[in-house]
Amino acid sequence: MDVSKPDILVVGAGPAGLMAAEAAAGSGRKVLLVDAMPSFGRKLLMAGKSGLNLTMAQPERDFMQAYTPPAFLAPMLQAFGAQHVQDWARGLGVDLFIGSTGRVFPTAMKASPLLRAWLARLAALGVESRARWQWIGLDAGAFAFETPQGARAVHPRATVLALGGASWPRLGSNGHWADILANSGVEIMPFQPSNMGFLRAWSRFMAPHFGAPIKPVGLRAGNVQGRGEFVISRLGIEGGGIYPLAAALRAGATLELDLVPDLPLARVIDKLAQRRKADSLANSLRKSLNLSAAKLALLQECARPLPHEPAALAQLLKSLLLALAGPYPMAQAISTTGGIACAAVDETLQLRALPGVFAAGEMLDWDAPTGGYLLTGCLASGRWAGQAAAQYGRSAV
Ligand SMILES: Cc1cc2nc3c(=O)[nH]c(=O)nc-3n(C[C@H](O)[C@H](O)[C@H](O)COP(=O)(O)OP(=O)(O)OC[C@H]3O[C@@H](n4cnc5c(N)ncnc54)[C@H](O)[C@@H]3O)c2cc1C
Repeated sequence: MDVSKPDILVVGAGPAGLMAAEAAAGSGRKVLLVDAMPSFGRKLLMAGKSGLNLTMAQPERDFMQAYTPPAFLAPMLQAFGAQHVQDWARGLGVDLFIGSTGRVFPTAMKASPLLRAWLARLAALGVESRARWQWIGLDAGAFAFETPQGARAVHPRATVLALGGASWPRLGSNGHWADILANSGVEIMPFQPSNMGFLRAWSRFMAPHFGAPIKPVGLRAGNVQGRGEFVISRLGIEGGGIYPLAAALRAGATLELDLVPDLPLARVIDKLAQRRKADSLANSLRKSLNLSAAKLALLQECARPLPHEPAALAQLLKSLLLALAGPYPMAQAISTTGGIACAAVDETLQLRALPGVFAAGEMLDWDAPTGGYLLTGCLASGRWAGQAAAQYGRSAV
């Protein structure tokens, strides 16, 4: 293939771009796939460090409701939703398991076997790949790149941009593409962190608990409440239990924790009242309520000195206020919102301002919680854009 004139150029080799390349190559088009980083799928590999939650096994209606705005990705998710993602991953030879909450993971709990098999499939489909090709702009209709071999211009029939959002820039998704597209008349919404932790300046007593999970825990912020878990981090708190409360917390609501969510208040009072004189308060909390060392540290951090009177202590355990100092910086968020406005693309994900250029994945302005919804949305939109670009490329022949 003459890499300066592919049928389809895919820029960005994260999940959305890889899926776009698979779809376009599967339609018989000659595909060039490029990425600025020295290797592909770095954020996917990072997601694999926490097990790679690929998708969520749940009824389609509930699944769709996880996405904002609700209608934007709906046709793409109907064409390639949770079950398709599972079939596709199994087709790559990846064994999966479904956790008790419906979250779907590779049995290996990592991304590298899936990524290896995927790249091999793309190579078998004839996809040409180039790493260290950084897209720097549009030049008289050509896509301009900086590469280790110098400047390169590519004249594709159609293009899929899948450049990711603006979190974890060291993995490649730095959001710098937003200026290029804005200069071409594409409407860009400001980036915002999503699915992010919250900051808290811990006292030195918390340092031994960095990395420790707080679970199970009841959580409430404003009108939102849930049950789950989170992790004490050096910066503050992060994890799946926190993310659904992020909007309320960002708006200034206080976080209220129930450290003993399986016991009603009266039962906690009873248990505390049975404390033996010889037991220290900490010991009796550990023994009678099975409180972990991290939960105990958190209780003391927020409410030291602890009251000894059972009713007052039980009240604290059931509704502990944890003051936070705002969201994590965007660079440390799991995902970002903002980027290409939904109204800036047509129903095929083609940029209205740049005919023949399609966009997919996190660079589009949709949002979803953790739970595999993000990867599924990226895969579904990548496939949709790849197929549409292949179709456009064909009609442009
Ligand atoms: C720590 C962590 C854990 C996560 N865990 C999960 C999870 O378990 N489940 C889940 O559903 N989601 C998870 N996510 C989110 C998920 O990984 C992302 O939503 C997804 O990777 C986005 O895919 P994408 O293809 O749109 O963009 P990305 O994966 O960000 O890929 C974009 C690619 O574009 C390239 N690029 C950017 N600019 C240029 C340029 N100018 N020129 C050339 N190439 C460029 C980048 O190098 C990058 O390779 C996690 C994210 C993080 C950070």
